[in-house]
Amino acid sequence: MPLRASVFVSPPIPWTAPSGKVGGPWSPISSTLIRTTTSAVLVDTPITEAQNASLADWIERELSNGTERPASLDYIYITHGHGDHWFGTNALKRRFPGVRVVATPDVVAHMRGQIEPKSFARSWGSQFPKQIDMGFVLAEPLAASGEFQIRDGVTDETFTLRAVEVGHADTHSSTVLWSEDLKLAVAGDVVYGTVHQMLAEANTAALRREWIRAIETVEALGPVVVVAGHKLADEIDGPWHLRNSKRYIEDFDRLIEGGEVGNARELVARMKGLYPSRFNEGALVAGAVAAFKVKEKQKQKQQAGGKL
Ligand SMILES: [Zn+2]
Repeated sequence: MPLRASVFVSPPIPWTAPSGKVGGPWSPISSTLIRTTTSAVLVDTPITEAQNASLADWIERELSNGTERPASLDYIYITHGHGDHWFGTNALKRRFPGVRVVATPDVVAHMRGQIEPKSFARSWGSQFPKQIDMGFVLAEPLAASGEFQIRDGVTDETFTLRAVEVGHADTHSSTVLWSEDLKLAVAGDVVYGTVHQMLAEANTAALRREWIRAIETVEALGPVVVVAGHKLADEIDGPWHLRNSKRYIEDFDRLIEGGEVGNARELVARMKGLYPSRFNEGALVAGAVAAFKVKEKQKQKQQAGGKL
């Protein structure tokens, strides 16, 4: 079978806090290349111009085929709307002019929201000042089947890739890209490697349950290879990342909802104790703070209700 896949991991880079100081590292970001001898699909891009220049160089090497005619990059698929998975579409489009950027309609809408000038200036623009290429190229929406094909020009075989919508994971409208031929799930932020999971948007018990269901949707596909959106560069992309990501959410949820921790600081300490080898504590802190903000609001509402 001429179909194969490889993964490029953009190393962690520092992000800037509102104070102007370094806020910490941004987790490493994976980009997966699925390809035949003549055609290729890239899944997700990193954030900054420098990161995307390195990714483009890697893609060029991958597609070169040694002495043969290089394969062409025909598609870039975006798993979800967060800018740290697509801000390189413009840079890659310049380097590979024929490429089509595709995503599900909900992801396209989310992408559009991320570059709305006010929200961009508050978030990505201030976290990565003057590092992001602003000529944003949005994806075109895929048809309802979520399917698209790449062909192998040597064997004349065609391979189908399918966008699978899984609901809310670390953000809403998340998807994975599925290759039945490779039993490969390119999982975006539905699944994490040995990196702390970002639960700032999945900040209620209901949303955490939804993230677990999203992982179970991927499990039901029966994958042999699972590529996490945030992972260490050298770790193997196995289906155990599904179980590990699920357990992380279950532990996070149990500590809060079971009343084992009373504030964000205690939650971070307990989670670090359970997951000492996961990279980027900052992602954990963001999730813990967001979860307790919601808890506090719920408590205030209950107290106000009790007074009535
Ligand atoms: Zn992400």
